[in-house]
Amino acid sequence: MTTVAAYAAAAAKAPLERTTIERRAVGEFDVLIDIKFVGICHSDIHQAREGWGEAVFPMVPGHEIAGVVAEVGPGVRRFKVGDHVGVGCMVDSCRECENCRAGLEQFCVQRPTWTYNAVGKDGKPTYGGYSQKIVVDENYVLRIPDGLALDVAAPLMCAGITTYSPFRYWNVGPGKRVAVVGLGGLGHMAVKIAHAMGAEVTVLSQSLRKKEDGLRLGADHYYATGDPATFDNLRGTFDVILNTVSAPLDYDAFLSLLRTGGAMVTVGMPEEPVQIQFSSLFGNRRSLTSSSIGGIRETQEMLDFCAEHGLGADIELIRADQINEAYERVGRSDVRYRFVIDTATI
Ligand SMILES: [Zn+2]
Ligand SMILES: [Zn+2]
Repeated sequence: MTTVAAYAAAAAKAPLERTTIERRAVGEFDVLIDIKFVGICHSDIHQAREGWGEAVFPMVPGHEIAGVVAEVGPGVRRFKVGDHVGVGCMVDSCRECENCRAGLEQFCVQRPTWTYNAVGKDGKPTYGGYSQKIVVDENYVLRIPDGLALDVAAPLMCAGITTYSPFRYWNVGPGKRVAVVGLGGLGHMAVKIAHAMGAEVTVLSQSLRKKEDGLRLGADHYYATGDPATFDNLRGTFDVILNTVSAPLDYDAFLSLLRTGGAMVTVGMPEEPVQIQFSSLFGNRRSLTSSSIGGIRETQEMLDFCAEHGLGADIELIRADQINEAYERVGRSDVRYRFVIDTATI
C-alpha cells in the first residue's frame, strides 16, 4: 500500500480538505499512475453534496484524470512506465455480462465500479483523482495520445466522452443539424466535437453572453433561449439536441425544435423528477433520451479523435487550495470552461 496526499470531503456538503489516503499495492494487472491533472466535473459537486442521494464519505472526487504511468504489474501488456494515460468515471466492471462483452462497460449489469463514491471489488471505498496517485487495472486505463497535452486532455475523460458517445450513437456528422443546450464544461466540448464531426452546430444558451466564445469553439449559430422568438424561429430544425444543463428545463419547448424522428439527449442530470407532455413526442415521433459516458473502447476512440482534430478542453488551471472556491464558481457557471487541478499543489 502507498499513502497518497488527496483532497477529500469528510461529509456531505463539508468543504474539501487536504488529507491522505491509502492506494492498494500494484497487482499483476495494475497500473500505478502519477496523477498530473484532474478536472472538476459538475457531478463531483452533485455527489460531494449528496445531490444524487446517499454517498460514501470521506469522498475524494475526481474522474477526469490525466497522468503518467509510474509502475506496472508483471501481467500488464498495454502500458509501460512513462506512458501518458487517463482514467475516467469507472475503474472496473464485471467483464462478463452482455454489456461488458459488447464494450459497454458503463452499462454493466452488476454496475461498474465507479472511480469514487463506490466500493471496489476488494470491498474498500474507491477514491478519485483529487490525489497524487491512483492504482487502476490496465483494462480501465486509457492512452492519451501524443499531441494532446495532459491538462487539456483531463476533462475529455468525462466531458469529452459524455458528449462524443451520444453524437456517435445518434449519427451526428455532415448534413446533420445539432443543437447544444448550455455552454459549460460539457457544452463547450460538445460544440467542438460536433463541429469536428462535420455537423451544423447551434448553441442554445440562456443569453447571448458567451456568443463570441460559442462561435470561436465551432458553432455556426447561437441563440438565446431567454428570447421566446427563438422557439418560434427554430421549430422543427434539429436532428439532435444535446442537453447539457442539469437544472430542469421546459422540455416540451425544446422538443418542439426537433425535426420528425429527432432525438433530444439529456446528459445533464436534474436532481428532481421532471415533467413532460407526451404530445411533444407523439406528433413527430420524437425521442427524449439520455446517455451515460461511454465504454472503454469508445473512450479510446474519442481520445484518438480529439488528438487527430487537436481538441482539448478550454481550462482554468487551479491549485488544490482553490477547489472549494471553484465549486462555488461552477455553481454560478463562472468558469470558461473547465477547472483543472494541478495535482502537484495537493
Ligand atoms: Zn463527470
Ligand atoms: Zn458487466
